[in-house]
Amino acid sequence: MLSVEQAREKILALAPVMEAEDTPLLDALGLVLAEDVVSPLDIPHWDNSAMDGYAVRAEDVRSAGSRSPVVIRVIGRLAAGQVATQVVQTGTAIRIMTGAPMPLGADAVVPFEDTDELARKATNGSLGEIGILVAPSRGNNVRPRGEDVAKGVVALPKGIVLRPGELGVLASLGYATVKAVRRPVVAIIATGDELTTPGGPLGEGKIYDSNSFSIAGLVKRYGGVPRVLGVARDNQASLYTLLEEGLSADMLITSAGVSKGDYDIVKDVLAERGEIAFWSVRMRPARPLAFGTLRGQGGRRIPHLGLPGNPVSAMVAFEELGRPAILKMLGRTRLDKPTIEAVLEDTIVNHDGRRVYARAVVTRRGDAYYVRTTGPQGSNILTSMAQANGLAICPEDMPQVGPGQRVQVRMLDWDEEGERS
Ligand code: AMP
Ligand code: MG
Repeated sequence: MLSVEQAREKILALAPVMEAEDTPLLDALGLVLAEDVVSPLDIPHWDNSAMDGYAVRAEDVRSAGSRSPVVIRVIGRLAAGQVATQVVQTGTAIRIMTGAPMPLGADAVVPFEDTDELARKATNGSLGEIGILVAPSRGNNVRPRGEDVAKGVVALPKGIVLRPGELGVLASLGYATVKAVRRPVVAIIATGDELTTPGGPLGEGKIYDSNSFSIAGLVKRYGGVPRVLGVARDNQASLYTLLEEGLSADMLITSAGVSKGDYDIVKDVLAERGEIAFWSVRMRPARPLAFGTLRGQGGRRIPHLGLPGNPVSAMVAFEELGRPAILKMLGRTRLDKPTIEAVLEDTIVNHDGRRVYARAVVTRRGDAYYVRTTGPQGSNILTSMAQANGLAICPEDMPQVGPGQRVQVRMLDWDEEGERS
């Protein structure tokens, strides 16, 4: 039987990284940068004022103090977006706003509060001149050209994940689009004669198809583009029809039809269209799995992950085996789910030497994390997945873990307090 890690290796080996494409900035949030971004300009583009105040020559006002103001002539005003037409000559100043380019001649900005401007206003005094109350050093309150990014340097390196801050940097360099690794399109097919699409009436003996939605939700959450193709019946013709649609995607995920009872249809159809392996993976839930590649258009090989039908099994198998594949296709290199160590408050039993993933709730008390399971762990009990914020692990080689023992927990929803987010 394959270990989870062995199964994951095999899947990752067949999951291709998607190509890079020019992407509008906002659509690139969460995507991987496909090439170094070299700055075409200095940011800031010119020396500019960091404060609202007066642009002066530091040398002129060297002797300024609160009791010995140096009064100089104000020759103009400058707002952000304006460029000075005058030069600040000895004994003069320009009233300047934050972000405005420094006028020629000036080398420091004295903020309003270090001048007698307020007092002048209060007494209707002349603003044609200003008293400087604090002597600035050269460069005070001046943001030098290129301070943030110098022209020609790598502002953002290839391979990083584009977060809001990176989008801001790209925008500040003037880019409207960015070369990013595109999202994989993931086709999702549910299989089973018993399945009904939600929204319609439920016939006798039927159930609603939940896997299409939980799996599509996971695909979307981790950065893929889910394409829900609907339900294939347990016959070859039905599966073929949906499969045709799925072959234009970058990855195919099916659910059900891989357990002992009835997997032959899925197996036959998929094997005919590519190379499919059926595995037993040493995990609980989700032992039976299919994985392989299908022949798509132009001989393209499309990874296919055949998840088990039970709703919890499908989700847990996806978290451990599908999620890393999607992240790799997105060009990510960190594929591991955030995992913490927590003190177990009840018991997880391991009957048969598999790795057990128990749905669990993690809470933080003081400096430690505590975890308890969500109750009945049947792989059909989907509400236990909805209640959980983590999957607590009992390792393969332990018959059980009990109260007070430390266990690893894969965090499904992660915030610092360990609360459900
Ligand atoms: P199977 O793998 O076909 O033997 O299915 C195992 C169990 O999962 C059965 O109880 C199915 O009814 C259930 N199941 C299969 N597919 C779905 C689905 N898409 N949504 C909800 N339950 C499903
Ligand atoms: Mg079935």
